[in-house]
Amino acid sequence: MKDTAQVVVIGGGAVGTSILYHLALAGVTDTLLLERDELTSGSTWHAAGNIPTYATSWLGMRAGNYAWSIYKGLAETVDSAITYRHTSAFWPAHTAKRMDLFRHLCGVSESAGYDLRMLSPGEMDEMHPFWHPDDTVLGGIFDPYEGDIDPSQLTQALAKGARDLGAQIERFAPVTAINRTPSGEWEVTCAKGTVRAETVINAAGFYGRKVAEMAGLSAPVVTLEHQYLVTEPLPQLEAHAPLFPLVRDPDIRFYLRRERNAFLVGSYAHDGRPAWEKDGPPDDFAHQLFPDSVEDILEVLDATIAHVPLLAEAGAQRYVTGTIA
Ligand SMILES: Cc1cc2nc3c(=O)[nH]c(=O)nc-3n(C[C@H](O)[C@H](O)[C@H](O)COP(=O)(O)OP(=O)(O)OC[C@H]3O[C@@H](n4cnc5c(N)ncnc54)[C@H](O)[C@@H]3O)c2cc1C
Repeated sequence: MKDTAQVVVIGGGAVGTSILYHLALAGVTDTLLLERDELTSGSTWHAAGNIPTYATSWLGMRAGNYAWSIYKGLAETVDSAITYRHTSAFWPAHTAKRMDLFRHLCGVSESAGYDLRMLSPGEMDEMHPFWHPDDTVLGGIFDPYEGDIDPSQLTQALAKGARDLGAQIERFAPVTAINRTPSGEWEVTCAKGTVRAETVINAAGFYGRKVAEMAGLSAPVVTLEHQYLVTEPLPQLEAHAPLFPLVRDPDIRFYLRRERNAFLVGSYAHDGRPAWEKDGPPDDFAHQLFPDSVEDILEVLDATIAHVPLLAEAGAQRYVTGTIA
């Protein structure tokens, strides 16, 4: 492992590798990323992989759209396979207030240079073979840009892109200490040695608080449990080849998209459940999930089935309840 670097990045998830890649694109290649375990072993490997481009702010919209505009060509740019699907998305509204917000966001999107537009319930019905409005749906907003990506492949591609430009990555190198030198540089100690750096970037995800504490800083990072489920494959999806939009319903609080020949359904509805509140995450939580929590998603599933009747025919193939910082 090298013993000096202009920038040390701590954490090899989607965020750390993206920072490393973007530094390299900007010409900063005297860099070293230190990853405690394998790349993507934190929150990234189990993310659903949706790339939300809709946001309730100008900056958020630009950030989401920057992401997919990079992702769509990344496999080719860095020569590393990535499954990426450009599906588009719509968001149904069940209240007049939500419709007002959506109209406002169409204006924000125009000022940010994007093309979100309002949809009628009938238009949404036509766009989606399996989701259907009822009389609680007043309309919705259409986001032509959303898609989904395999988050592990994305991380590996970002890492390859950075390495190809000169960045270095050390895996199985947990950082255990960060100290300031009298000259104002940083000494970062990990299992493979010590590196001196001008700048240290904390990209440790749900370990962010622990890493900040090593440098004497306090970062308000907590870990929450978040979940989605993937259904068993459905013959109706097998028979339906074309892509269809992701549906994200902020009133019922679900998102639903295709995952191969099955549905992937995520819920935002259950109460936030913090994990490891007292001592922070254990040092060895890599490639792991929390126990399944069927109850958390039941209410949302029932409400979702009212709009996606086919969902009632599918058993659950797997629950994914993971860490989200
Ligand atoms: C169920 C679920 C579904 C999700 N779905 C989506 C989605 O559809 N779309 C979306 O955009 N987001 C989604 N997310 C959120 C997404 O997973 C996270 O926002 C993202 O993965 C965070 O990436 P990260 O690089 O910040 O963190 P992580 O992936 O956690 O990476 C941090 C890395 O830092 C390393 N690290 C920690 N401490 C140290 C140390 N001391 N030394 C060295 N390395 C260290 C860890 O090992 C880890 O690899 C979902 C999350 C969950 C739980």
